Amino acid sequence: MFRMEKTDSHTHTWLSGHGDGTVIEVAQTAVSQGMTMVALTDHLPLPREVDPDGVFAMDPLNMDEYFYLLEEARLEYPSLEIIGGIEIDWRWGAEDYILSWVERYPFELLTGSVHMLTSEQGEPWEFDHPDYAKGWEERGEEAVWMDYLELWKQAITSKVPFDLMTHPDLPKKLNHKPPFDPTEYYHAMAELAAASGVMVEMNTSGLYKPVGELYPAPALLQAFYEAGVPCAISSDAHTPHHVGRNFEEGYAALRAAGYSHLTVPTRTGDRRQIPLD
Ligand SMILES: [Zn+2]
Ligand SMILES: [Zn+2]
Repeated sequence: MFRMEKTDSHTHTWLSGHGDGTVIEVAQTAVSQGMTMVALTDHLPLPREVDPDGVFAMDPLNMDEYFYLLEEARLEYPSLEIIGGIEIDWRWGAEDYILSWVERYPFELLTGSVHMLTSEQGEPWEFDHPDYAKGWEERGEEAVWMDYLELWKQAITSKVPFDLMTHPDLPKKLNHKPPFDPTEYYHAMAELAAASGVMVEMNTSGLYKPVGELYPAPALLQAFYEAGVPCAISSDAHTPHHVGRNFEEGYAALRAAGYSHLTVPTRTGDRRQIPLD
């Protein structure tokens, strides 16, 4: 029986500050599932004032170690393509900070995320974190979704050469879906992504969050498809045994949206395609 080639474009380890497992363990799980590629995308270090306890992102002192561990895993599993990526938190005014990291390290996949809302004056607020859920009441759902779109747009149109935008409709995570007809909103996201050439991802981790559904929602995925935006697939695993989970549901959603191929990043920055049989 033909089996579809399996790849996972977004995973984490203990280095992210809120996950567990090692690079080798993620690679081992990928190999045990017959995968041909896994991308490690631990969280880019945040400035201390944004992450004083070091729980949202990698300790800057561990960055050299990260590249060493990636190389070690490649030696252990030579048949697996292991992409040394990074998940970058886009924040207001963070462009120069991010570029300084991107220029210093040879990241092979730059994934872009908006996990916190920030403004010129305001403190960052982690809208997707259950401990800070009160912010939703203070700001209101519509305002949060609109601020998110603004930051997403900033990220995509910034000088940071993002390859892939993660969990595009993350504000729904704690079950705050758009309180308005999202058709135009989704269309705006799709147009931005198409114009810049980034990939998006089918991220299955949403199934395990309060919202209980895949990122992106079916209508957003369809908007991406219609705009010609390439889509990868990922587990966003924060522990090795979550690598590759629920991909069958992800493939089904991609097919339902119209996609006939999955897009896969590579170590060289090229992309390739896998038919969604
Ligand atoms: Zn994320
Ligand atoms: Zn992630």
